[in-house]
Amino acid sequence: MKRKTMVLGVIGHPVSHSLSPVMHSAAAKSLGLDLTYDTYDVPPDELEDLMDRFRNGDMDGLNVTVPHKVAVMEYMNELMDNAEKVGAVNTICRKGDKLIGANTDVYGFITSVEKNAGEIAARGRILVYGAGGAARAVCHAFADRNVERLLIANRTRHKAEALADSLTGVGCAIDVLDYESNNLVDSVRSADIIVNTTSVGMESVSEKFLPGSENIHQGQLVVDIVYRPLETPLLRQAKRAGAMTLDGLWMLIHQGARSFTLWTGAEFPVELARVSLLKALNED
Ligand code: NAP
Repeated sequence: MKRKTMVLGVIGHPVSHSLSPVMHSAAAKSLGLDLTYDTYDVPPDELEDLMDRFRNGDMDGLNVTVPHKVAVMEYMNELMDNAEKVGAVNTICRKGDKLIGANTDVYGFITSVEKNAGEIAARGRILVYGAGGAARAVCHAFADRNVERLLIANRTRHKAEALADSLTGVGCAIDVLDYESNNLVDSVRSADIIVNTTSVGMESVSEKFLPGSENIHQGQLVVDIVYRPLETPLLRQAKRAGAMTLDGLWMLIHQGARSFTLWTGAEFPVELARVSLLKALNED
């Protein structure tokens, strides 16, 4: 007999901290959709088994988080929504026994900026801290918008260089900056938008400040994609300096919104998702 309830979820390792079940379950309830959304803690050596179960119909759609975003790509029959370009999959749809991988982080990030700070998002010089998976999505999102210049600063310089190389040909100028340097300080001063994509500022990370960030000033937009805590030390510092700020919960919501629509065809209730996530964060 065909199963009626749509089975969705997120795979990662660890994954119990994920807020995705909160927003997808709240969205489904408000729309009256018959679906479940659970976390699946999948160590790397169990990924293949999980993908087999998924392909055979145990689940209908999955989000993918650290450390599997690149590893799942080999199981995909097709790629869509920036997955090939970014080189990572955070959403998988199943059609029969075919798995289709998408990257909704690019959409999630740029939508969060354009919906909350549209007038400033059109500007030219962007400084990105970090060169991990999230930085790739953020850099591609800006490159798609034809910004003038992308400046990338990462603690481990060669990773920033690899990211810059992967962006060759995107149509905007790209510079790699030394993490602790006067160039970085100058770039903080002259950037229109500053984005933190590193784990710095997370509750679990000892470092709280990014080099050069004390030079943030009024007229800039500062985005932190870290959302635990919601107001990171960087955002607090930026607010004090009079800059406009944007928290990471918006990116989480908009990437989830795109995933939800890919799976269900329904429009995601963005405001309701934000309310449910804020409640969950406060209860943590
Ligand atoms: P990742 O691939 O592991 O990259 C981590 C990045 O953080 C690297 O650039 C790393 O630099 C840097 N980093 C880590 N610890 C650092 C420290 N103590 N000092 C300086 N740099 C440090 O992780 P990711 O997937 O890109 O995720 C990064 C952050 O973004 C996480 O906090 C994650 O929760 C958040 N995130 C948020 C959303 C959202 O929807 N809001 C989406 C994705 C990710 P090195 O290269 O030098 O190690």
